[in-house]
Amino acid sequence: MERPVRVRFAPSPTGPLHIGGVRTALYNYLFARQHKGTMILRIEDTDSQRFVPGAEEYILESLKWCGIQIDEGVGVGGPHAPYRQSERREIYLKYALQLVEAGWAYYAFDTAEELDRLRHEAEARGEAFAYNYTVRERLATSLALPADEVRARIDRGDQWVIRFKMPENQLVEMDDLIRGHVEVNTSTLDDKVLYKSADALPTYHLANIVDDHLMEVSHVIRGEEWLPSLPLHYLLYKAFGWEASRPAFAHLPLLLKPTGGGKLSKRDGDKMGFPVFPLFWKSPKTGETARGYREDGYFPEAFINMLALLGWNPGTEQEIFSMQELIDSFSLERVSKSGARFQPDKAKWFNAQYMHHKTDAELAVLYQPILREHGIEVSDEVAGRAAGIMKERATFITDLWDLTSFFFVAPTHYEEKQTRKYWKGQNPAILREVREVLASIDDFSLENTERIVHAWIEEKGYAMGQVMNTLRLALVGAGKGPGMYDVTSFIGKEECLRRIDHILEVLPPVE
Ligand code: GLU
Repeated sequence: MERPVRVRFAPSPTGPLHIGGVRTALYNYLFARQHKGTMILRIEDTDSQRFVPGAEEYILESLKWCGIQIDEGVGVGGPHAPYRQSERREIYLKYALQLVEAGWAYYAFDTAEELDRLRHEAEARGEAFAYNYTVRERLATSLALPADEVRARIDRGDQWVIRFKMPENQLVEMDDLIRGHVEVNTSTLDDKVLYKSADALPTYHLANIVDDHLMEVSHVIRGEEWLPSLPLHYLLYKAFGWEASRPAFAHLPLLLKPTGGGKLSKRDGDKMGFPVFPLFWKSPKTGETARGYREDGYFPEAFINMLALLGWNPGTEQEIFSMQELIDSFSLERVSKSGARFQPDKAKWFNAQYMHHKTDAELAVLYQPILREHGIEVSDEVAGRAAGIMKERATFITDLWDLTSFFFVAPTHYEEKQTRKYWKGQNPAILREVREVLASIDDFSLENTERIVHAWIEEKGYAMGQVMNTLRLALVGAGKGPGMYDVTSFIGKEECLRRIDHILEVLPPVE
């Protein structure tokens, strides 16, 4: 029987979740949903030094905003609870000791000062210090010290760590669903710490492997930065005797700077004016803030659509994908090996596309708070209609006020350039006539008004552009806006007449 798909997103709460992390969560989610599998959220908080209060809440809120649903894990529960590693601390020591017992790991008693000294000495010789097979039998480890001394040191409370005993000169052969076959010689690797007595906590490597095993994870989909850890992870599965149920691995390409070289960072965003985080963040330690896609006015669907295509391509020209379409078409085979360059303008383009596809009813809900801020109380129907008429010119909901305010507020001032151009010659007098034509129309619908006014202009032999632009100056106060009859039918006959009367009263014609 095929193994059920179980994937996990396993962030560490060390700060706000970078959009690269959101993409990792998204790909896991798409993969899980496509295979009718389970999406797990595990919080990897065993590094107490790097723990940042509020970061976990931020992660949960970000996933929620993005529409990435968790089936099992922190905030949801499930058969393998708890899913926060700090609450699973009793589990890990047993496994670390099992490796010591089996000869795959050993105790090391070196103090931080001692390690510093060794590092400096190596540097002085022009070498890099590596804690590995070359030194472990000469240092204060259970490989070098007599068994009774090891026991005595532990019993009297000396601090110790358990390190993985990386084999010397062995080839580790690995398979990655994106990168294919990868080989590494173990002599290039060091003896990573797996467990620390100081805080009675495992390190990332041990906790991650033990939990993936206990939580029956079938596929590990994570960022490329973890590829160098893969040989160790393979060997841990071997050391525990869990090779038969080892998950498949897929390492996702980095998100690169808009200029190409290097990993996309907060600094790039600050410099070029775009967020690299899903939500606004304020550091509880430094008070430093970072902007977020949500607060910058992006729709979560547009943000997700953009992220999905950063590193994955559907093999077709299609660019707009709903979450369901992404679930249906996603595949790890089409995730690229090379880094994906982030394009801030493309993010805006996606938002604009989603804006243009929103219905008036959807726009109304989003636009009403802004209208209310400006003191405009209208029905959803009216708010949605205004937004709908102008949505093609908007990228963000916040653009709508500038684009539609004239629907709700009569002009009190008239743009200078337009005034100089149209408020002269015959035009004010013609506008007075247009007023009478409009006043005589009973059915003020867009089509009927347009038909009658146009027929009248033609009959009079007036220049269409001059008349229309003068009318626009009166109704909008500027040269912008949608079709003239969109405006007349929206504001209605009484308001049209009022605005025309107002301009005729207050604006002296230019000579
Ligand atoms: N806690 C690791 C991180 O923050 C998880 C890496 C993994 O998925 O194995 O990225």
